[in-house]
Amino acid sequence: MPPTENTSSTPTANPSTSGTPAIEFKDVEKRFGKTTVLKDLNFTVAPGERVTLIGPSGSGKTTILRLVMTLEELTGGYIFVDGKPLTHTEKNGKRVELPSKTTRAMTTRIGMVFQQFNLFPNMTVLENIIEAPIHVLGKAKSEAVKEAKALLDKVGLGEKADEHPSRLSGGQQQRVAIARALAMSPEILLLDEVTSALDPELVGDVLEVLRDIADTTDITMLLVTHEMQFAREVSHRVMMFDGGQVLEEGPPDQLFNNPQHERTRSFLSSVQ
Ligand code: ADP
Repeated sequence: MPPTENTSSTPTANPSTSGTPAIEFKDVEKRFGKTTVLKDLNFTVAPGERVTLIGPSGSGKTTILRLVMTLEELTGGYIFVDGKPLTHTEKNGKRVELPSKTTRAMTTRIGMVFQQFNLFPNMTVLENIIEAPIHVLGKAKSEAVKEAKALLDKVGLGEKADEHPSRLSGGQQQRVAIARALAMSPEILLLDEVTSALDPELVGDVLEVLRDIADTTDITMLLVTHEMQFAREVSHRVMMFDGGQVLEEGPPDQLFNNPQHERTRSFLSSVQ
């Protein structure tokens, strides 16, 4: 399908791109063994900005999110969060790894939601949500429970607090996973194909929850999705990846309606 007339509005309040970025990739390189997946990758995400990564399978999008979450080891370059180095810094012209304690302290401000939900199966919905606020942030249980219940209401699952994840649909499990990420009051939320594992009829409710977060918070979001209409609605900027490089980027209207590269055009017609 060719790019169509835009029927939705692009987010209006564009975050300021001056000042310290929420996320900065500087000369990032990622190798898996002998395979280089990302090379000389440079980009920034402004505080409050919502950036969607699109591109063919294998182009490195998930790896980028996993590097920010420190689930993958950075093999070259630097990532900064709020201007501070995340895993490595430069000292006397040399690249040195930061103490794991420093890195861990920074990742508490980053939340991630995965394609496969990754809830703790042996815990109830409520226990899933309060686990990290209590054990990582040191919150009192009563406060964590109160906040978790409010978050469950927000994602439309107030009635499910005492269920185990296996009793919920995939869409409900994913909404719990979103509530769990929000319970850590993240400054940055990473969303990795969060609707890809869901039956089509369950996708809408999950996207609705994410739209609500986009509308009501100023959380910086970096997302990978194949839901192009959703990307168009919530993103301030879309980055098209190919072979670990940014092929082109721009506001969704520009990128979807007037892509500059043939590669982007053929990718968009394959997914829209
Ligand atoms: P995308 O999200 O764009 O589909 P990925 O970031 O998942 O791409 O993967 C980029 C490349 O890195 C792919 O070629 C993939 O096979 C490779 N890759 C990802 N994770 C690993 C891993 N743990 N070990 C080896 N190769 C990996």
